[in-house]
Amino acid sequence: SNYVVGISGGIGSGKTTVTNEFAKLDVDIIDADVIARDVVAPGTEGLRAIVAKFGSGILDQGQCLNRRALREIIFSDEQAKTWLNALLHPLIRQETLRQTIEATSAYCMLSVPLLVENGSYKTVDRVLIVDVPEEMQLQRSMARDKADETLIKSIMASQATRQQRLEVADDVIDNSGNEIALVKQVANLHHSYLKYVGAIDQ
Ligand code: ATP
Repeated sequence: SNYVVGISGGIGSGKTTVTNEFAKLDVDIIDADVIARDVVAPGTEGLRAIVAKFGSGILDQGQCLNRRALREIIFSDEQAKTWLNALLHPLIRQETLRQTIEATSAYCMLSVPLLVENGSYKTVDRVLIVDVPEEMQLQRSMARDKADETLIKSIMASQATRQQRLEVADDVIDNSGNEIALVKQVANLHHSYLKYVGAIDQ
């Protein structure tokens, strides 16, 4: 089946923790961050085009894309940014589509950190949002990354608001409780999704 549940949530909300639970139920997980890296891996059409445009100075010593150098270019060059997006978006879309078609589970889950921000919530069959209060997002992110409050707060400010995410959600996981509460919600949602795709009786 290529029924796609898009999953998102703000920094530190628990997306990875949730997708790990769905994976335990044999749901194929597709990770947009991984795809975004893979389309510019050594040997790809994506990396070849970037080198042709910006020169081999855009590579690091291991012949991999120097992301920091690329970020600096597009930060100060709007045309370069437009060019890069025009290159990468079709490659990412194509690879995402390929992976959803190849998925063998009854439905698959597409994890996109910026699902709401970049509009890709419109392209999935269903939107699942992992929700926690902002204070908890902050505390859990700080604990995990050993990052300071200012950095996490600036990332949170650059993302969609809790309200904006909830507005596009078909389903919400409340991850303010413990892991047992989380696993229970995942099991319930999995059951609903299997029903939607007709894998089990209504
Ligand atoms: P990011 O967007 O930053 O990659 P994420 O949404 O994938 O984050 P996770 O890494 O899954 O979030 O979770 C953030 C942190 O909170 C992790 O350290 C995780 O172990 C912890 N965590 C997740 N869910 C719970 C929970 N229910 N109770 C306690 N800690 C939790």
